[in-house]
Amino acid sequence: MYVGAPPVKVMNTMIMKPNMPSPDDPEDSGVPAGLPAVTDAHVHIFPPGIFSAVWQWFDENAWHIRYQLSTSEVFEFLLSHGIDHIVALQYAHKPGMAADLNRYMVEHCRARPGQVTGLATVFPGEDNAEAILREAFAAGLAGLKLHAHVQCFDMNSAAMDPLYECCRQNDKPILMHVGREPNSTAYRCDPYRLCSADKLELVLKNFPGLKICVPHLGFDELSAYRRLIEKYDHLWLDTTMVVANYFPLAETIDLSRYRTDRLLYGSDFPNIPYAWDRELKRLKTAGLSAEDLERILNRNAAELFGLKPTVDKCRFSVHFAP
Ligand SMILES: [Zn+2]
Repeated sequence: MYVGAPPVKVMNTMIMKPNMPSPDDPEDSGVPAGLPAVTDAHVHIFPPGIFSAVWQWFDENAWHIRYQLSTSEVFEFLLSHGIDHIVALQYAHKPGMAADLNRYMVEHCRARPGQVTGLATVFPGEDNAEAILREAFAAGLAGLKLHAHVQCFDMNSAAMDPLYECCRQNDKPILMHVGREPNSTAYRCDPYRLCSADKLELVLKNFPGLKICVPHLGFDELSAYRRLIEKYDHLWLDTTMVVANYFPLAETIDLSRYRTDRLLYGSDFPNIPYAWDRELKRLKTAGLSAEDLERILNRNAAELFGLKPTVDKCRFSVHFAP
């Protein structure tokens, strides 16, 4: 009897693994000279207990986080180093915690008016997900942050529809980590099963008014995502961690080939293994025009998150409901 060849196990790219390098690269005390005002559109905060769990997870499964700071210290660090505005993010790791995280975010944004804009989170499919989100928007949060690898949602599932609708109706963008990398075997689900540029395109087609931003330039499907922003006006990408020359990339990134009115700078601070200004230095020398730099470092985020210029035109604020 003929027995066919055993099925071939296709190994997915697995960017995150234990003991990744922690480069001790030098850092400066301010934004590199010559750059315009900088909005960091991808900054993580968490209440203390969750932050320490995140540090431990990264120590065991990826890299050592160089900046083990509290929420207030994160803001203080970036602002005192010359970052003009921060878009702060959290994600709920399980059902039942999003409302508290959103209240925590609102509290911290109120303490930094005009300097920090916070996004809401929700655990897709949890009870009252839409109500939690509506309440967060009413309290002044400027969009929704989701992470498919941690929250294990399928972006095309029915549970997502009310969240997409709620964002669309409130004209709030959704910052959704739905690229397949950086992947890790330590996740509870397989990001390669849940995430693909094709699946995102379905969301873009089904929800034409919904503003979506995908972090890490859609890593590892870089070319597919570069084409998607050409095709869809309601899609943005952030450059977080992929212009740092830290992850091995199958293709080189040439930002000047991108549609630059759809790119946002973000750092992933404080959860990074290298110097806080590493990507700012690389963006400065990436061969981008002054206008493109101004867009990527500032204007695109201001437009996407509705940050309003205040008196000195460099600072932005959002209105918080009482
Ligand atoms: Zn991040």
